[in-house]
Amino acid sequence: MTTVAAYAAPAPKAPLERTTIERRPVGDHDVLIDIKFAGICHSDIHQARDGWSEGIFPMVPGHEIAGVVTEVGPEVTKFSVGDRVGVGCMVDSCRECDNCKAGLEPYCTGGGPVLTYNDKDKEGEPTYGGYSEQIVVGEDFVVRIPDGLGLDVAAPLLCAGITTYSPLRHWGVGPGKKVAVVGLGGLGHVGVKLAHAMGAEVTVLSQSLRKKDDGLRLGADHYYATSDPETFEKLAGTFDVILNTVSAPLDFAAYMSLLRLDGAMVNVGLPEEPVQVTLQSIFGNRRNLTTSNIGGIPETQEMLDFCAEHGVGAEIELIGAGEINDAYERVTASDVRYRFVIDAATI
Ligand SMILES: [Zn+2]
Ligand SMILES: [Zn+2]
Repeated sequence: MTTVAAYAAPAPKAPLERTTIERRPVGDHDVLIDIKFAGICHSDIHQARDGWSEGIFPMVPGHEIAGVVTEVGPEVTKFSVGDRVGVGCMVDSCRECDNCKAGLEPYCTGGGPVLTYNDKDKEGEPTYGGYSEQIVVGEDFVVRIPDGLGLDVAAPLLCAGITTYSPLRHWGVGPGKKVAVVGLGGLGHVGVKLAHAMGAEVTVLSQSLRKKDDGLRLGADHYYATSDPETFEKLAGTFDVILNTVSAPLDFAAYMSLLRLDGAMVNVGLPEEPVQVTLQSIFGNRRNLTTSNIGGIPETQEMLDFCAEHGVGAEIELIGAGEINDAYERVTASDVRYRFVIDAATI
């Protein structure tokens, strides 16, 4: 066991504070990662404040992890000391079900993946996330961060990046396709960059035009305010894919009317309450209303390689660990452009 410093929420809704946690010894197939940067995902806040389900406390959040390998187990073949690596939302899965074998570990049917924090590993020990100095992870759940992609701007790609990349790929986004991204926040801003890099014509649909300049700079071709009813008239039947990154409930019927034949509205932000939608609003153009989880490990690697090739990183605000609680307040108030990243050297 190694004792490492970390920031943890000691109890639901309690502010995060500096503490120490134990990391397991480096096993045969494990790598020890010196964490350099950890992104703050909105779901960290939900879980630390226990908005979704009963959390495991103390909780060390963080599933957007970028760092450097400092030790490898004797059976490790994919990584060496000094490699730049990332860890996202999962650190293990059953590895035996059809979905795991297909590299779709988020959809593991053998009990689901082991999440990076707020979960228990196969030994029944609680998992602790990236707001810490080091982490030990099996090599199969570690991905390589290509040279040329800064570790700080790469960290948020491990959740925000793959969460948006996976549905864009699944729904065939590329040249000639029209994509709308709903919400220009932590997920949305990466979604805009990715869809643009994939060659699609990108439109941002945001409540107001407050971030229009940013949206166009990030790669959007068009920017509309959803508070303006004319937006929905003007854009009726336009999009092949609508990527909805907003967790608040929307008027789904209004958004479905913006899709063309066989278009898809993919929801990656999940409202806590049930949503209402009429099938009539989907029926007209054989539309799809669907969701998407994070991507599997092979696709996460593909996403990072794609981002390095196209110069896509997150827009970040780097903070010290002592600022985590303030950052949580600001994320809740949508006051961040566009992702807080913790400099792990300050933990
Ligand atoms: Zn996340
Ligand atoms: Zn499985």
